[in-house]
Order: sequence, then structure tokens, then C-alpha cells
Amino acid sequence: MKRIPHRINGRRVATGPRTGKVYDPAIGRVTAEVPYASAAEVDQAVAAATAAAPGWAATSVARRAAVLFRFRERLGERAAELAEVITSEHGKVLGDAAGEVARGLEVAEFACGMPHLQKGEYSSNAASAIDVFSLRQPLGCVAVISPFNFPAMVPLWFVPIAVACGNTVVLKPSEKDPSAAGVIADTFAEAGLPDGVLNVLHGDKEAVDALLGHPDVDAVSFVGSTPIARHVHATASAAGKRVQALGGAKNHMVVAPDADLDTAADAAVSAGFGSAGERCMAISVVVAVDPIGDELVSRIVARIARLKVGNGRRAVDLGPLVTREHLAKVTSYLDAGVAAGAELVVDGRTAVPDGDPDGFWLGPSLFDQVEPDMSVYTDEIFGPVLCVVRVPSLDAALTLVNENRYGNGTAIFTMDGRVARTYQNEVKVGMVGINVPIPVPVAPFSFGGWKDSVFGDLHAYGEDGVRFFTRPKVVTQRWPEPPAGVDLAFTANR
Ligand code: NAD
Repeated sequence: MKRIPHRINGRRVATGPRTGKVYDPAIGRVTAEVPYASAAEVDQAVAAATAAAPGWAATSVARRAAVLFRFRERLGERAAELAEVITSEHGKVLGDAAGEVARGLEVAEFACGMPHLQKGEYSSNAASAIDVFSLRQPLGCVAVISPFNFPAMVPLWFVPIAVACGNTVVLKPSEKDPSAAGVIADTFAEAGLPDGVLNVLHGDKEAVDALLGHPDVDAVSFVGSTPIARHVHATASAAGKRVQALGGAKNHMVVAPDADLDTAADAAVSAGFGSAGERCMAISVVVAVDPIGDELVSRIVARIARLKVGNGRRAVDLGPLVTREHLAKVTSYLDAGVAAGAELVVDGRTAVPDGDPDGFWLGPSLFDQVEPDMSVYTDEIFGPVLCVVRVPSLDAALTLVNENRYGNGTAIFTMDGRVARTYQNEVKVGMVGINVPIPVPVAPFSFGGWKDSVFGDLHAYGEDGVRFFTRPKVVTQRWPEPPAGVDLAFTANR
């Protein structure tokens, strides 16, 4: 049985008292074992990162950026290989896996600009003979804890910026699909990143909790479900660390009566079922504003009928779910929705997969006539289950979205600029798409939601990323002329 090693201080270590199983979800069989780090291994990884921190922080930003440039080139060359690794453990189709690598690479490109991004400010002669300037210094050792659904992209939201800023990292990827993180670490090593600057440690709650409480971990970047994000934020904050914790989502796509319905139906199906709905920016609720509900649903149904579910290495549209347990959980919502009175227009359990019978299959499913008190509406299902809620007006649509506990992404489909502008200004959601169903910001902007979709102040990547991974320092300097004499006044700075 293949064992997926940790990477600690440039060495591959596969020890650990406990192990987990890694599956190929398209065949439903175990393909590897992954060691679960104990607190002792967390100590080793943090010690390696802490030891590497002073040297890396003292390395010029030009040399750090040069590593990022090489990393970006090398990972681009390995993109197809990394996509195959992702598909083999996550299940998403190869094209989607390649897209995730490309979006991650955008952040690496952004981090290549660190000589500019990390510049401080300078105010000459701010007071008489006094100059004031600011520095952005690295924090030290930071932990990055990532979810299963983007095993390459989410680590790449944080690691390139963290290391380009001069920090060292312990990355704890999801134990469900841990291999992509190893490819990223190996590529950084090939690009010349010194040993100990990026360490990959596998594991579960035990490893995470050891990182959250470790006195030498200075900051934590977390992405995952809302209950765990809340726990990570509370625990790491109580331990005095800087923390950003991105959580779950329930993303609404509002379709206004004047929208182009074919465009809206294409978008709803693409954003609802891409990656089998296992995206934090997936559309999970279509809000149909009267009177277009019937027409929109029939166009969505027609498109679903053309989708193929199957092994992501084949010519299919969506792959399997990540684990058997997750499949059971998602499927249970189909029963719950029916029991609550929603209309199951398309039942994904009847789909015939193009793949091994033991794969974790569920085809696209569509609920109509969903009400806001049903669990299919209130809960993040995180699978290929799209819900349609019908509302009488645009105001009612806005109220629905704003009353939802999550606020990650949302979209509005309309041809009316005033409608779009009102929505963009009044919706309580962090990322808004106007005729764009999955508005994941490009790398120079930052990614993050509102409400229960994020805990902490700074969002991921973009300038927020640089702020998160640096500590500001302001220096006030004077190079004295011959002694001016003692002056006890408080503000002599004029
Ligand atoms: P998860 O919360 O189960 O796991 C995320 C990470 O936390 C993993 O590394 C896991 O090992 C660790 N973990 C799990 N249980 C833990 C516990 N009890 N204590 C400490 N650590 C624990 O999430 P997941 O199922 O891997 O990923 C899917 C979730 O992530 C969805 O809710 C999705 O919306 C969310 N997500 C959010 C974003 C975003 O940007 N907001 C992006 C991607 C995914």
C-alpha cells in the first residue's frame, strides 16, 4: 500500500501512530494510506519552520520573488500531472482540476510582485528633521489548513504569498486528498525554496489542534466548513494568533424577470453541478423571481438531461462525490427535501454513471418549490443538488439572500443596470457576480465572504493576503544636529 509522506525540513517522513485511507472515488477503492501526525510530529514540523524563519526572512525580497517565478514556471509545466493527482483523489473531471491549478497559479503570479507589494511608505521631513517610514515584516511560522474540495488551489491561495513575504509555513492539507500538497511542496523545492520553509504535515483534528495551540505558530489561515472555521478562529485567537478562517456557503443566484433565460439556465447548471457541487462558490439556490419560475425550471431540466456523470478521466461533465460517507450525507438530503414537501424534479440517484459501479456516484438533482425553512435550503449540502426558491419580487429575493446565515458568493442575472446596481450595493454577501455565476475574484483582489462564511478580518490573497502575512512597523527617525537642549513638551513634532 502506497504511503503518502509528510514533508518536514525537506525530508519525506511517513511515520505517525495513526493512518487514514485515501480513495479513488471513481472506483470506490483505497489507493493509499496517509499518516495522521501526532502532536510530536507537529512539534517537528513547527521546529523546522521556526528554525528556517530567520534565514528566510533575511533573504532579500528579490531572491524570494525569484523562487516564486521559478515555482510558477515549474508548476505550470507540471499542471497536467497535478490535475491527474487531484482527479485521482478528489474525483473532479480533469478539465476542472486543470482549472483549479490555473487559478492557484494566478496567486503565485501575483506573489512574484512581492518586491512592489511589500514596499513600505516613507514621509520625508514629517516633522522638523524627522522622517517616518513603515516596514512590512514577516510574521514567522504560519499554519495553512485546507479543505478537500480544492486540494491545490486553496493551498496556493496562501502559500505563495506567505513565503514571498518571508514567512515559513506548515501546510496541513485535507486528509481526504492529500497528495496535491506534496506536489506543490516538491515543486517549491525544485524552484529553490530552502528546506524547512514549506513543510507539509498530514493529519486530522489532532494535528490541527496541535497547530492551533502551538506557541511557535504565529498565524493560521484556514478554509473549511463553518463549524470548524468557527472553532479554529476561536481557538487560535484565544492562543494569541492572527487568524483568518473561511467557512461554508449557500450561494444564491437571483434570476430577474428580464434576464435572458437561456443564459441564466446555462449558468445555473454550470455553477450548480460543476465539480459535483463541491465548490464553496457553487450555486446551490436559484431564486426565480415571478413570473419566470416555470420557464426557468424547464430550461434547467432540459440541460440537466444532457449532463453525464462518470469517471473524471473520461468525457463526462461531473465526477463522483469525494467519499462514501459524503455521498450518503448528500443523498439523505434528497429524502429530507421530499419529506419536507419540496418537489424533486430530477433525482440524481437514477443517473447511470460512466464508471466503475463501486464509485461514489450521484447525478445532478433538482428541487423546485423549496421553502426557506427546509433543511435542503438552510444547510450547506455540498453536492450536486440545486434548489429553486420562487419569490414574488426582486425585493423579496434580496431579503431572502440577506437573511441567509451565509454570505460567501451570490449572482444576479438581469439585463437592467439599475436592478444589478441596487443588488450589488444592498446584498450582504462578500463576492457578487452580475451575469457571472461564480464570481471568484482574480488574484489582485481578495477572496472572502461575509457572515458565517468567514471568521477574522482579512480575506484571502490579493492585498489582504500581503497584509495578513506581514506585520507593520513604523519607524520615526532623526539624525540630530548638534544638541538642541532638553525639551519636556509632549508634541515638539512641528
Ligand atoms: P472540513 O471543515 O471538514 O475540513 C477542513 C480542514 O479542517 C481539513 O484540513 C480537516 O482535516 C480539518 N478538520 C476537520 N474536522 C476538524 C476538527 N473537528 N477540528 C479541527 N480540524 C478539523 O471541510 P471539508 O469537508 O474538507 O471542505 C468542505 C467545506 O469547506 C465546505 O463547507 C466548503 O464550503 C468549505 N470551503 C470554503 C471555502 C471558502 O473560501 N469559504 C473554500 C473551499 C471550501
